Amino acid sequence: MGKIVIIGAGMGGLAAAIRLAVAGHSVEVFEKNEEEGGKLNRLERGGFRWDTGPSLITMPFVYQELFEAAGRKLEDYVSMVPVDPVCRYSWPDGTMLDASDSVGRMTAALEKLNPKDVRAYFRFMAYSRRLYDLTAGPFLFNGINHWRDFLKLNPLTAFKLDPFRTVHQAVKSYFRDPHLVQLFDRYATYNGSSPYQAPATLNIIPYVELGMGGWYIRGGLYELARAYRRLAGELGVQVHFGPEFGVEEIVVRRGQAVGVRLANRQEIAADRVIANTDVAYTEKNLLPARKRWFHRPQKPGKSAGLEPSCSGFVLFLGLDRQYPQLAHHNIFFSQDYAAEFDQIFNLRQPPFDPTIYVCWTGLADPQHAPAGKSNLFVLVNVPYLSEAFDWEAPGAARAYRDLIVKHLENFGLAGLSAALEVEEWLTPVDLARRYNADRGAIYGVSSNSRFSAFLRPPNRSRHFKNLYYVGGSTHPGGGVPLVTLSAKIVAGLIAQDEAKRPA
Ligand SMILES: Cc1cc2nc3c(=O)[nH]c(=O)nc-3n(C[C@H](O)[C@H](O)[C@H](O)COP(=O)(O)OP(=O)(O)OC[C@H]3O[C@@H](n4cnc5c(N)ncnc54)[C@H](O)[C@@H]3O)c2cc1C
Repeated sequence: MGKIVIIGAGMGGLAAAIRLAVAGHSVEVFEKNEEEGGKLNRLERGGFRWDTGPSLITMPFVYQELFEAAGRKLEDYVSMVPVDPVCRYSWPDGTMLDASDSVGRMTAALEKLNPKDVRAYFRFMAYSRRLYDLTAGPFLFNGINHWRDFLKLNPLTAFKLDPFRTVHQAVKSYFRDPHLVQLFDRYATYNGSSPYQAPATLNIIPYVELGMGGWYIRGGLYELARAYRRLAGELGVQVHFGPEFGVEEIVVRRGQAVGVRLANRQEIAADRVIANTDVAYTEKNLLPARKRWFHRPQKPGKSAGLEPSCSGFVLFLGLDRQYPQLAHHNIFFSQDYAAEFDQIFNLRQPPFDPTIYVCWTGLADPQHAPAGKSNLFVLVNVPYLSEAFDWEAPGAARAYRDLIVKHLENFGLAGLSAALEVEEWLTPVDLARRYNADRGAIYGVSSNSRFSAFLRPPNRSRHFKNLYYVGGSTHPGGGVPLVTLSAKIVAGLIAQDEAKRPA
């Protein structure tokens, strides 16, 4: 078994380190920041605590299986608790709905909102589950690493994946109530895409959340990053943190990755290199100039199907009070969803009437805020970085923060502005700088064209031998469960490649 170097200690990088250490490799991870978890990070200030990235965990079996592969039990490392309601939805016309993975509670909530759509919900969930059953094996658990992988699909199956309609077209064919259309359209944003452009295949996500449930990690989601790092350490993985351990170059000789060069000028030799860094960033900054297939010239304003996912503008609010009308996860919808996505993906401007997500972990973990106070994480989908909007222009971020606070006050969080005790924000520029996320994208590449969900950059480099990619910008996609699955795919590819090596 050879020596493996991993660039980045995000959830994908750490999960790959765990898998490969279990397989008997010697593994070293180099992370430019001071902590593990990448985008799954946390912030503490003035007695308040927030997770700064992911807030909702799905597919718990993915993490259980990772720990089991190492002979451990996930519950010895973190406590995963179901969240019910999974999300509280509010609309500008005063309509509200608590979505639940409990069939009884969901049916009751739908009966109240619009009895005509109760049956539609069950038909839609059956369709969503069918999509999951069809895609999970070939795409989520195995990845697409060669065009031949497509041939394994029965053509009839490919048709059943519903790639010719958009998410919105399919959702609209089930529901009559516009509130429910908007609610189910929103799932396209779980991988940073627009429901008006992404293929209906993404309608697997409602089943993943409402069929399998939404989860929280006691203490905050950052505990999961700590657990991955702890397990990697127990398995003998060496993880180096700090700017001096940032990778500046993947060393390539005769078309093969043979190691990395660090910011401290040290060169580390390796039999194989895994980049947990964003593929676009890696191709542009860490690899030799030739063969940058990902960055072939494109028409201005147009991308060859590999458009970054949307980015996010996040507020971390420490309030001197609580709002009892809030659940753990809350969505405050915009008036005109199509206009919102037109602004994000076509005009590349932060929407002036945004859908706002609010997470209040203090409800599950009261120690996340001083007694009687609350810690709110507020996220709005905004475009990836482009010349169309400058977050660093004087007052730009502040003005957008004011707009969001005003919207939330209009939605009934009266006195929000006056209740602010501590406040910070994170812009797409911060995401790009902190994590080298290509143009500040949250989920790597979007799925905003018919086949882009299947055509993400592969986990095994097409151009350099012994180079692999793990994480949100490669297969199977963004989000903590998928990047954890991508580590399993990479470990499987390395096992295949090792088997081909002469003894
Ligand atoms: C605001 C926000 C909300 C989100 N909400 C959710 C959610 O609710 N549920 C969910 O499942 N997902 C959510 N996500 C997405 C999720 O965080 C990501 O898909 C996932 O964490 C990505 O993991 P990763 O391993 O691919 O990469 P990253 O987390 O990007 O990790 C890459 C690591 O590489 C390091 N690195 C970069 N360049 C170098 C270099 N040159 N040398 C060394 N190290 C380097 C970075 O510092 C980073 O630590 C959210 C993300 C954000 C930002």
